[in-house]
Amino acid sequence: MVALQKFTNLIQLFDYFKDDQTCRNYLETIRWNGQIVCPYKDCGCEKVFKYSNGKVYKCSGCKKQFSVRVGTIFEDSKISLKKWFAAIYLITAHKKGISSLQLHRDLGVTQKTAWFMLHRVRHTFGLSTGAEKLQGTCEADETFIGGKEANKHKSKQTEGTQGRSVKTKSAVAGIVERGGELRAVKVADTSGYNLRKFVYQNLQFGSSIHTDEWWGYNGLAHNFKHKFVKHNEGEYCKDGVHTNTLEGFWSLLKRGVIGIYHSMSNKHLQNYIDEFVFRYNSRDYSDSFRFDSMLNNINTHLTYKQLINARDNRKMETQQGAFGF
Ligand SMILES: [Zn+2]
Repeated sequence: MVALQKFTNLIQLFDYFKDDQTCRNYLETIRWNGQIVCPYKDCGCEKVFKYSNGKVYKCSGCKKQFSVRVGTIFEDSKISLKKWFAAIYLITAHKKGISSLQLHRDLGVTQKTAWFMLHRVRHTFGLSTGAEKLQGTCEADETFIGGKEANKHKSKQTEGTQGRSVKTKSAVAGIVERGGELRAVKVADTSGYNLRKFVYQNLQFGSSIHTDEWWGYNGLAHNFKHKFVKHNEGEYCKDGVHTNTLEGFWSLLKRGVIGIYHSMSNKHLQNYIDEFVFRYNSRDYSDSFRFDSMLNNINTHLTYKQLINARDNRKMETQQGAFGF
């Protein structure tokens, strides 16, 4: 894929997407590339006519009419495509993400609308994760996202929540191919079963895998070249064996979560993780290419109800409830 239109800032984006018709045409090209397909479920007919107003299509299969928004995250939304495009640009171009409060100010929409736009866009981040297994030299590591019990008032502290307990925190497993793609998912806990399952799902047999000495990774040597560093003994890199790439990613994710998403709800955690993973994996993209990649993923309709009840079956679930920061 080549970026269709090059822009390096918001002014250039607005100069190009000067009206909604330009946005519609752009979306049509990204979505269908000349071969319009009926977006209705169980139809998918390729015989589609476009009305001369440039806004409405009609399917000759199911006879239904539709706009370019149907079946995308923009469906059922009264917000102009121009604002949606600006939102996608702002969300993906900001290295640390953007809050709904900031988006509300930048776009001149209510904060509730900004929150909804953010979540719809965020919903599509996870769709860019590749299906192929990682290979070469990889690192696996796990972390915990959530309130530090020690920082809470005594009455708010929960017993037995320090260390690896997931009573008030969520465990996240990650794997990264050095110089390549990173993947991260919420896991129920950091048991050997969950961590090894995650590695097996994402890593090609025979590849090198570096971890710390956590026992959860024991047994990987059966199918991978497993090497580890002893973090407990203050060892962080020995003979090129380290998990520094993932450690760097965890600190970015945590700073983002604490700095921007103050009241992040646990049920949306995977979407936040996906957002940071997308940002990491598209680190070498130009802003235009990153924008086009996101538009490529918009073929997913998400209703308000689905958003509120967000439960992504693809991910491993953990306990419910909000975090304590
Ligand atoms: Zn149809």
